[in-house]
Amino acid sequence: MKYRIMPCSGDRISALGFGCMRFPTIDGNIDYDKAEKLIEKAFEGGVNYYDGAYPYHGGQAEVFMGHALKGVRDNVFIATKLPPQQIEKPEDMYRIFDEQLKRLATDHVDYYLLHGISDMRVYRKVTGLGLFEFFDRIKKEGRAKHIGVSSHANESDFKQIVKSYDYEFVQIQFNYYDVLRQMGIPALEFARERDLGVIVMEPQRGGMLSNISDPEKLQLIKGKGTPAEMAFRFVLDRPEVTCVLSGMNQMEQVEENLRTFDRFGEGNMSPDDHKALDEIRRMYEEKIQVGCTACGYCMPCPFGVDIPISFRCLNDAHMVNHEAGQRTYNVMTNRPGYPDSGAGNCRECGACEKKCPQHLEIRKYLKQVKAEFGR
Ligand code: SF4
Ligand code: SF4
Repeated sequence: MKYRIMPCSGDRISALGFGCMRFPTIDGNIDYDKAEKLIEKAFEGGVNYYDGAYPYHGGQAEVFMGHALKGVRDNVFIATKLPPQQIEKPEDMYRIFDEQLKRLATDHVDYYLLHGISDMRVYRKVTGLGLFEFFDRIKKEGRAKHIGVSSHANESDFKQIVKSYDYEFVQIQFNYYDVLRQMGIPALEFARERDLGVIVMEPQRGGMLSNISDPEKLQLIKGKGTPAEMAFRFVLDRPEVTCVLSGMNQMEQVEENLRTFDRFGEGNMSPDDHKALDEIRRMYEEKIQVGCTACGYCMPCPFGVDIPISFRCLNDAHMVNHEAGQRTYNVMTNRPGYPDSGAGNCRECGACEKKCPQHLEIRKYLKQVKAEFGR
């Protein structure tokens, strides 16, 4: 295992982190026997970063992590996250955090994050309820060692979020497909400028990059590595990355990942490797409907439309499959307690188009989103 230094703490963190959201299950519950073996194998292979969250496995993931990591607690870093959707009053943060420590059977969390912020309305709500005071307090008490934020926000919102508090690390989506479309390299560079640690999620883009079956794409990486290996290699190549999460639920996957992370580190990619992945990206991009880079400059829409999310889901529907796009669209534009932010709310005022650096015909594409997703 190769290790990287977390800038805020100097901790030596394994380049491979265990994402604890996808353990094997039996009758809807975590299969402790199987899952423990995975954790043991990963620990023996040098993995020392374990990433959970309050809602993973309906709350069972943190309990399992506490159980499985108890014997090696001092040799691992535990990360977990505060669920902003479940915060309605200041006490909720303290109550949930106390519950998390209890579940994890520990007196402190090493890396504590605000979970999955993609919507500024949610961020404003939790900051208005005293999020920063809460973070200051649990850090001062030593119950959370380091504070970060995980985000799927567009570039402009992401920068605003990171600047709003003294965050020490970020968790972002980074992979060779999204590198130009989502925050990608600009986010890494922004993190480096601020000396933030970077935990990478979705290195395989939810399985899209590890499950390539198209012979033309496979031919491009023949002799270089498996699809999963190439996707990891791309992320590991970047020196700004501190740790790459993988939600491992099979022993073969743990073993393959350990081999990959033993072999490859910073600067592992040759120009020829990059060329092959660029070509695969180009083949995916042929199916893209709208060339939105998710910069967020068009936002906010006065009528509440989440434009970048609408376009990301539209593209996913064509590049992956319709169900994948529709599912994300439903979750991200129709959050309980918030007004619908789907494309159907567009009043065609045109304000957004004046601000789009890509000069996209936003209104036209939003009509397509509405037609394909039904609202
Ligand atoms: S054109 Fe539609 S999406 Fe754009 S700002 Fe106006 S209402 Fe919002
Ligand atoms: S529509 Fe244009 S301005 Fe809005 S996020 Fe996409 S590229 Fe940026």
